[in-house]
Amino acid sequence: MPTIFTHALTAAALAGVSAPSAGRWKLILLCGLVSVIPDLDVISFYLGIPYAHMLGHRGLSHSLFCAFVVALVVMEIFFRVDPPATLRWWRRFILLFLSVVSHGALDALTDGGLGVAFLAPFSNERFFFPFWRPVKVSPIGMNSFFSERGAAVMMSEVKHIWIPVLLCTLGGLGLLLLLFLRSRKTLKTD
Ligand SMILES: [Zn+2]
Repeated sequence: MPTIFTHALTAAALAGVSAPSAGRWKLILLCGLVSVIPDLDVISFYLGIPYAHMLGHRGLSHSLFCAFVVALVVMEIFFRVDPPATLRWWRRFILLFLSVVSHGALDALTDGGLGVAFLAPFSNERFFFPFWRPVKVSPIGMNSFFSERGAAVMMSEVKHIWIPVLLCTLGGLGLLLLLFLRSRKTLKTD
């Protein structure tokens, strides 16, 4: 897995450029938080559940199904509206869903461990991206994180995830600013 910082940064950046303006910061924060939920499954190691089991690490908790459930629960708790499923509701729901999915997608770019069970609970097949897995797998546990290997992992995440994510975010925000300025110009000339 990449570190939790990288998962949170990626999801928060995604929300930062595409969240609706009402409740934007709340959604950015929630997207960052839900993106680290899948790795709560490390508890399976302590419970003696094998890595390759559907309930093991990178199993059910990293699936599209789990992302759907987490997004739905968060919407119910934090963004309950009446009537449900308005356009804004869908926008928030999809961002939350993609934030959890982004976790599995980043894990599938790492060079170690088993792949991600995207299709659980329907299938326990584990997936990695086929040709390109540049991210060094992060050590599990804080002690090993503050080590030479931990530093190498952080560097590989900065290079392969942080920099591209920040560039995309800046590009997205630039585009939004451009659209905003154009709409103001159009209003003035109307
Ligand atoms: Zn993970």
